[in-house]
Amino acid sequence: MIEVRPEPFLKNLISSAFRHVVVSAIIFGPLAGIVLGCWYFAHEPVGWRLAVVLSLVFTGRFYAKIFGVSLGYHRYLTHAGFTANPVVEFMMLLAASTAMQGPCMNWAMVHRQHHAHADKPGDPHSPLEGFWHAHCFWLYSWPFIRKIKPPFDRPEYKLARFMNNTFVLWVALDAFSMYAIFGWVGLVWLWLGCNAMVNQLTYAVNSVCHMYGKRNFDTPDQSRNFKWLFFLSGEIWHNNHHRNPTCAAHGLMKGEPDVAYGLIKLMNRWHWISDVQHPTERTYRGMVSGARPAYAVATPDLAALSLEPALAPGGPST
Ligand SMILES: [Zn+2]
Ligand SMILES: [Zn+2]
Repeated sequence: MIEVRPEPFLKNLISSAFRHVVVSAIIFGPLAGIVLGCWYFAHEPVGWRLAVVLSLVFTGRFYAKIFGVSLGYHRYLTHAGFTANPVVEFMMLLAASTAMQGPCMNWAMVHRQHHAHADKPGDPHSPLEGFWHAHCFWLYSWPFIRKIKPPFDRPEYKLARFMNNTFVLWVALDAFSMYAIFGWVGLVWLWLGCNAMVNQLTYAVNSVCHMYGKRNFDTPDQSRNFKWLFFLSGEIWHNNHHRNPTCAAHGLMKGEPDVAYGLIKLMNRWHWISDVQHPTERTYRGMVSGARPAYAVATPDLAALSLEPALAPGGPST
């Protein structure tokens, strides 16, 4: 008979307190950067030249992190929507790691858990437990995954394992480089403030995109397409994504721009990536057959999708 020993009370208390401090720093630290940045601009005269430079660097960093998370963490590592050469893989995971959303494999494991139990018991961030729980407070209750289990043990994930284990280094280098180049305004605005914007908008996929917007497909969860965040990478076509998670394209209908998929097609043309899980005629037909009659009027953007003429093996996955 296996003897189950209870965890020591003091050890549990320290572990819980440590987790609360770390999670609070992750959620509120970047938000403090926005407040401190606004305070800085209100008290320090910033010439138009510096204002232009800061705006350009902020925007460049914002989209690099957004596309890093979308392409690297989500469509590549979590869902295997394509395979990438080591340089592209490194660049995607580096950009995503600097967004302070956790080590890449940890992120992927949590997100796979979400798809496996979306809006049901076992979902780490279902809005059924409230908007703010789904948005970011779930981080307080989610037990951190310390041991990375298969399939990330496979040799093809060697670089991803390295990026996972050196996560703190990339975050620190990002912060240090902004401070070294721009001083305090670099630290509070370009590092913390930029990460706050990226993370709040990423959190919104878990909260807003499971509560507000249209459903093209009758998926067994509450996922929705929330068009008002169209200026991001395309992750907001979340109901389409839940209908077929491995599909590299998320925007499928007319009026559903998906810049990340555009980049995937471009990188594939340049042979930087391969094995792209394009939406094929067969998978698309499978997805449409699951559409609710009320939403079946939506028109697929067939031209933009460049549908594969051949029928790919395997139907749509859910
Ligand atoms: Zn979801
Ligand atoms: Zn996903």
